[in-house]
Amino acid sequence: MRLLEERIVQDGLVLGSGVLKVDTFLNHQIDPQLMEEMAIEWKKRLEGVPVTKIVTIESSGIAPALMLAKLYGVEMVFARKQKSITMDDSVYTADVYSFTKQVSRTVTISKQFLSSDDHVVLVDDFLANGEAALGLCDVVEQAGASVSAIAIVIEKSFQPGRKKLDDRNYHVESLARIETLEMDHIEFIHE
Ligand code: 5GP
Repeated sequence: MRLLEERIVQDGLVLGSGVLKVDTFLNHQIDPQLMEEMAIEWKKRLEGVPVTKIVTIESSGIAPALMLAKLYGVEMVFARKQKSITMDDSVYTADVYSFTKQVSRTVTISKQFLSSDDHVVLVDDFLANGEAALGLCDVVEQAGASVSAIAIVIEKSFQPGRKKLDDRNYHVESLARIETLEMDHIEFIHE
């Protein structure tokens, strides 16, 4: 998606070890106009795909996921990274290793918010090693629901996540696919 790629080049800060900082529009400050354009683009790409629910993981997935849910007219659920004291034991959980924080966490969704009738689009801000996406797939599938698609804002295609999801036959739609991530040079894959 051209608009997003331009924004990444303009605002993105490449940190060492393959990490991209995009705090000006996605991970800290959020650009609602861009979030809306992204949701429109995903919906266009997902034409014909059944969707009854949008699922993401806190916190940076929430903004784009909410925009997409609004477009589809369905609810959005975000997986919690820490179990809230208001949650009872009726939860689905999966262990997810965080690429940026380098710790393992249990992500949780209340059983109340997923059912076996659901067709879910998963949303996340980044795809790196695929841990977060696979954890969310696990949670959705524990509920007997189906994963209709995985919608990613920024895919770092030089890391193994995309291949892992392709190998499991998930439908992945990444709005920006980064092939090369260097301090002074970012290259994208265009299909
Ligand atoms: P994965 O689980 O695919 O290894 O990593 C995805 C998660 O790690 C995303 O939810 C995102 O929060 C974080 N992440 C991975 N790579 C980056 C990156 O380059 N920049 C930022 N800001 N977050 C990242």
